[in-house]
Amino acid sequence: MAITVIQARCPQNHHCPAMAVCPKDALSQVGYRAPVVDTEKCIDCGKCVKVCPMGALITA
Ligand code: SF4
Repeated sequence: MAITVIQARCPQNHHCPAMAVCPKDALSQVGYRAPVVDTEKCIDCGKCVKVCPMGALITA
């Protein structure tokens, strides 16, 4: 299982709220672009998936 970012679902017009809940600091964002998952850091806890209101972060 890995976290996947569906860019098309991310409106890319705000600071990604999922970054604040990630316990491993595995999410990064340049400006308001869709976040990027550092798969080396990510532990697949799924917290970000629950926080994203657009469903742009999924487990795949
Ligand atoms: S699954 Fe957990 S560790 Fe991985 S990016 Fe999401 S919140 Fe961070």
